[in-house]
Amino acid sequence: MTRVAFLGLGHMGLPMAKNLVAAGHDVLGYDVVPAADEAARAAGIPVAESGADAVADADVVITMFPAGKHVIDAYQDGLLDAAKPGTLFIESSTIAVDEARTAHEMAVAAGHRNVDAPVSGGVVGAENGTLAFMVGGSDEDFAEALPLLEAMGKRIVHCGGPGLGQAAKVCNNMILGVSQIVVAEAFVLGERLGLEHQALFDVVSQASGQCWALTTNCPVPGPVPTSPANRDYQPGFAGALMAKDLGLALQAIEQTSTDARMGRLAQELYAAYAAGDGGARDFSGIITDIREGRV
Ligand code: NAD
Repeated sequence: MTRVAFLGLGHMGLPMAKNLVAAGHDVLGYDVVPAADEAARAAGIPVAESGADAVADADVVITMFPAGKHVIDAYQDGLLDAAKPGTLFIESSTIAVDEARTAHEMAVAAGHRNVDAPVSGGVVGAENGTLAFMVGGSDEDFAEALPLLEAMGKRIVHCGGPGLGQAAKVCNNMILGVSQIVVAEAFVLGERLGLEHQALFDVVSQASGQCWALTTNCPVPGPVPTSPANRDYQPGFAGALMAKDLGLALQAIEQTSTDARMGRLAQELYAAYAAGDGGARDFSGIITDIREGRV
């Protein structure tokens, strides 16, 4: 049994913490928002009075915060000081690669260990314990994190050293953003050429254009009954989160002077989508904006 402090009990963090408890770990939670703490208590997870209190006796600290600044601030403002020497910090928020490396260096400088372990799979994956984890850190720290990650996820990949979990996440989501846009464009083009949605789906899903954005997240209602298009684009994966992840991709593109024009364009289109009514809709709903010439 590992003593785990779980900080950030939001949409993702609370169900992840519940799965750790279900696997027999001793979990102490904390969130800065009292309502989140209340929801955790109601789910049977004890909650500390502060982040520092939560980490004081922990073997492992897991953070699941909105963005990188929350991670750096929390590390700086007491978590690293309050933890026992050698504590393993598993940072699972989606943050920039350089922020993940900064967090790693801060943890090591304070006498601790750190891996970045962002996730994909969304709230449903968090609830069902089927998340994918992309992990950056040393072999030893990965091995120690693995049993905990296995309690919360199904596919766990060690991507390399510090920051490389976030690097894999940013690359994956850049592919996803670009492919969701082009699948939407193809359906709108097909409509204008007189092609039925189902006919286009039947061809492409078995041909070289096949991809997740088509076969799981099909942006038109009908061909894939479980896709968000069949429920008026209720997420799923909200446009605001795609815009955030593509912002992190753009940051990485610029820092590495990478010629990634499709990734840049996807970032631009999803920033516009999220600034309109797309922030709370599934990211596949961008097809409406494309059809109406709004992006
Ligand atoms: P959320 O906003 O629901 O939860 C984050 C929680 O962290 C909030 O409850 C907030 O109060 C808390 N928090 C912030 N600073 C804190 C601190 N110093 N101490 C304790 N708690 C603190 O966000 P979420 O949807 O759970 O996402 C969490 C992370 O996972 C994000 O980085 C997001 O990009 C990533 N992610 C989300 C999804 C998804 O579908 N929601 C999918 C993959 C990855």
